[in-house]
Amino acid sequence: MAKQYSKTKLAKFRKSIEQKMGNVSEDVDTIREGLGTASNKQGGVTPDSIYSLHMADAGTDSHEQEKNFMLMNRGSDYFKNLEIALERIDEGTFGICKICDDLIPEERMMEVPNATKCVDCKEKGKLGLG
Ligand SMILES: [Zn+2]
Repeated sequence: MAKQYSKTKLAKFRKSIEQKMGNVSEDVDTIREGLGTASNKQGGVTPDSIYSLHMADAGTDSHEQEKNFMLMNRGSDYFKNLEIALERIDEGTFGICKICDDLIPEERMMEVPNATKCVDCKEKGKLGLG
């Protein structure tokens, strides 16, 4: 606990994380709305309209839906990571490398708020030396 970001810096990080969370939930909402409309449309197809549907179009739709589901899942993972980052701010462990106890550079924490290792330690870990 020798090194830690100042309260001012932590407040800045918190703001940026909360902003990111806002963006993610907006994205997920938009996707959810899209999925809702798509399934409503499918629920309302009558036998007649099934014959008029082009199979190619139907294929594109389901592919599109799959992609959206994936995006939604990725969105919630990302969201979880942002929540963890906020918890770390509360705990006072935010931005501190858990390997070497050094401060993780500000730019990195802005990009990857849930990072727990500095780049050096991460690279060492990759090589199997960490
Ligand atoms: Zn480190």
